[in-house]
Amino acid sequence: MKNIPGNDRVESLLRILSGIIGFIFLIMGLGFLILPEVIATTQFFADTARAVGINSLRGDFGALFLGMSFFCLLGVFSAHRWLLQVPIVFLTLVILGRLISFVVDDLPMVMAGTLVSELMFLTVLTLSVISYSFSSRAQKSPPALKTVFNLQFLVVFGIVIIVVAGAFTASQQIGMRLWNGLAGRSVRQNMIGELPDGLHVGLAGTGSPLPDRKRKGVCTFVMAGKHLFIIDSGPGSTLNLELMRVPLDNIQAVLLTHVHSDHIGGLGELMFKAWTGGARTEPLKIIGPEGVDSVVQGFNQAYSVDAGFRFAHHGPTVANLKGAGGTPETIEVLDETKGAVVFQTGDLKVTAFLVDHRPVEPAFGYRFDYKGRSVVISGDTLPSESLRRQAEGVDLLLHEALQPEMLRIISQASITRSKVIAKVTTDILTYHTFPEEAARIARDANVRHLLLFHIIPPTPMAFFNSAFLGDSRDYYDGPITVGVDGMLFSMPPNSTKILKKWAL
Ligand SMILES: [Zn+2]
Ligand SMILES: [Zn+2]
Repeated sequence: MKNIPGNDRVESLLRILSGIIGFIFLIMGLGFLILPEVIATTQFFADTARAVGINSLRGDFGALFLGMSFFCLLGVFSAHRWLLQVPIVFLTLVILGRLISFVVDDLPMVMAGTLVSELMFLTVLTLSVISYSFSSRAQKSPPALKTVFNLQFLVVFGIVIIVVAGAFTASQQIGMRLWNGLAGRSVRQNMIGELPDGLHVGLAGTGSPLPDRKRKGVCTFVMAGKHLFIIDSGPGSTLNLELMRVPLDNIQAVLLTHVHSDHIGGLGELMFKAWTGGARTEPLKIIGPEGVDSVVQGFNQAYSVDAGFRFAHHGPTVANLKGAGGTPETIEVLDETKGAVVFQTGDLKVTAFLVDHRPVEPAFGYRFDYKGRSVVISGDTLPSESLRRQAEGVDLLLHEALQPEMLRIISQASITRSKVIAKVTTDILTYHTFPEEAARIARDANVRHLLLFHIIPPTPMAFFNSAFLGDSRDYYDGPITVGVDGMLFSMPPNSTKILKKWAL
């Protein structure tokens, strides 16, 4: 290659930038070795739902970044372009994987910022390699091992070993400092304070009675301006509400669609946390169809002994006994066509309507209207004409969904092991809606976005979404999302935008 005057200066600058990138990779790699969960959660949204995943975070992610750092820094120190090409290959593959994920995983662009950084790194490293070709100082032949493992490399390697060993030795002090920052930040945050005016729908539980690693029992929250409602309270969902930083003390009412266990199992915890978390002075209002009385009284009874203990320990400013538990309110829907208005204040209207979940009668769905935006939540139902009417033109339809073929496979596999599971998984086919049927309803009602929840059977990863949806996309042209806990849909007032985010 010809040496062009001035190129050495450009090459030096690029080499410094490449060195910085190498150190960033080094810090990330060490981060994955020392604090895999912190780096994965805060930088990569890669939460380990199972504790054993930490092994892969340390091993695989650590290796990727340390490997890229290793070749990047060696390429910089020894001025060998062949070495710098290694992180370029890896970065290109990382970016390719991200682009595939944006398309097939139907994820919001949460990682767009990371993608931009990676593209910048790729550009700098590529320019660096090109500049080596024109530089008088760069090595022109493939590296010999002894030139690669030089003194500078050994110094960096030694520093790495010292940092890792030091971090593990001082893990108690580092842990406490880190806790100070992270815990302080998460306690100060409150979702309502962060969200702009509009209609917001959050998924705190998208599961069913079947155990699902990614989904708690069914529970949705709706925030309309300052009004906060919880719709159903399935097992475990209160913990998700708290993780999503939903201020439980601000709940206006809990609306139950019906009193099946997978919709009420979390109610005791929800009433309890709303009480102790916010010093309520009146019980939480629980609205629902016939049966809500005995459910709420039962939970009140079950938690009454503990309520006494909490009062004795914390006193009336925290645990005012007047605010403990819940007050049931039974509603009736007499007009099948119009439903029954449950709340109407200012810009907000909440309507309950009948759905078909026989033998569970009555069973409700709910519609929320706020400043020109609307959402319908189906509850559990077969395809329902009254739901289709209520969903006419809504922005977001949360419809329950059961995939019969996938369920049948579970049912068949269970026959030899458990006749009960085999029978239950067959019985439930008769009172839920298939994804294609939900898509047809969304099409007929001119819904803007179809969001499936109450997912049966549990799908452990997004890869199965298209098998779960079957031919749904043939029936409905709009966007279809298979719900997972933590999704948040925001609808700004008087607009057509539906913004999808993660809140877990
Ligand atoms: Zn049900
Ligand atoms: Zn259910």
